[in-house]
Amino acid sequence: FDEIVDVLVIGSGFAGMSAALQAKEAGASVMVIDKMPVFGGNSTINGGAMAVAGSKLQAKEGIKDSVDTMVADMLKAGRGMNDVEMLKLVCNGTAESCQWLEAYGVEWKPFVQHFGGHSLPRVLQTVQSSGAGIIRPLIKAAKQHGIEMRNQTKLESFVKDPAGRVIGVQVRDGYYFPQERTGKMRLIGARKGVIMATGGFSRDLEYRQMQQPELNGDLDSTNHPGATSEALKQMMLIGANPIHLDQIQLGPWASPDEKGFGTASQFNTIATYPSGIVVDVRTGERFFNELADRKARADAIMTRRDDQGNPVYPVGFTNAKGAAQAQTLEWGLKYKVIQKADTLEELAALYQIPAKALKAQVARWNDAVKAGEDKEFGRPMQKAMALEEGPWYGVRMWPKVHYCMGGVKVNTQSQVLHLVSNEPIDGLYAAGEATGGIHGASRLGACAVAEGVVTGRNAGRICAASAAIEL
Ligand code: ADP
Repeated sequence: FDEIVDVLVIGSGFAGMSAALQAKEAGASVMVIDKMPVFGGNSTINGGAMAVAGSKLQAKEGIKDSVDTMVADMLKAGRGMNDVEMLKLVCNGTAESCQWLEAYGVEWKPFVQHFGGHSLPRVLQTVQSSGAGIIRPLIKAAKQHGIEMRNQTKLESFVKDPAGRVIGVQVRDGYYFPQERTGKMRLIGARKGVIMATGGFSRDLEYRQMQQPELNGDLDSTNHPGATSEALKQMMLIGANPIHLDQIQLGPWASPDEKGFGTASQFNTIATYPSGIVVDVRTGERFFNELADRKARADAIMTRRDDQGNPVYPVGFTNAKGAAQAQTLEWGLKYKVIQKADTLEELAALYQIPAKALKAQVARWNDAVKAGEDKEFGRPMQKAMALEEGPWYGVRMWPKVHYCMGGVKVNTQSQVLHLVSNEPIDGLYAAGEATGGIHGASRLGACAVAEGVVTGRNAGRICAASAAIEL
């Protein structure tokens, strides 16, 4: 080996950074490698929202939540496909992990949000409205605590001893994404274990289409370009059991009027969905529960097509009061992803919606808010807002490939399980999006931060406590 550490973490997102810090807290020597020039993967470019069961902020707002309620919500969204033991582990760990993040300097907005598919408001969000508000403090802490951080270092393959235990990895040092075979091959040894926190493969067009052919190149993705499948394939080559790989999530809040995550994702999550409505532009009418889980919403939006099968982009809108919370409002307006209209007639003209039908729909919605019940689509109404007056802010919507529910199967010790024996592969751990099964058929919003941090810490703690081998 060119270098040897106790715990080697592959990937520097929520899962990797949490694993690394937890392993360091337990006294291990730790190195984090990432193939990209910047650390943080997808974790730095999302909304930084974390679902927490039983937070201090919920108590302050008088919201009664429990681990069991969160488990039930996630099972419902997952269509019962979830790995229940892992799901409980994640939900159980959220409140304490939230405090752990705070101790490293993560700051939350002072209110709780209601995201789609959750039966009540339980989502905390960083003051920056971005995952960078979590990743930056964790990277800073990692450097302060003497964790080796290496970028442009790509995992190529695993090194095993004659007994089959993973004892290190072969990397390309100085790797220049996405150019294959760049950088120098080196060997890094891991006395206690290797933790895979390599995320999903939403940007791997070829591999994602092998799982779900309809997720073709017509669909954009919210992910960073490094969200590819090679690390997953290396785990499979040494016997890891891949599960639920065809469960790939579409983000229902994205807009076709910009690339990637963009400004609409945050705007729709925080403004349009909780405090506005979404209509079919041909009828001016709502057609789904805007606070359903992501799969239900994305599936509903994807049905809006013309006779030739081309998308007919639905429009979501809210008013100034609803839009006020979204930090991306200004940018969205600047790039014309979000459009402003003073009256409903103007909004209808902007998006070619029949004005009379639109106004009738808004009136029906306001009646539903007053009645406290959405008879048409069963939307939860705890934070629903009547749409009484403009100005209005609209966004065209079309889903983008966002998250892989599938990945390698792990046990509650975060050990990767072998395909044939269903026994742990010695020395190999995994956490975060790289693992499969926790979310079943559909991950609820804000549950990836919860999963990444809780399972990352679990893997870090257990790997650091395992017996070291001589290398
Ligand atoms: P999670 O939320 O599960 O932590 P992220 O997508 O945020 O997942 O982070 C995964 C990280 O793993 C990304 O920064 C990505 O660049 C890195 N990664 C993926 N494959 C490899 C690889 N083969 N070698 C090194 N790093 C990798």
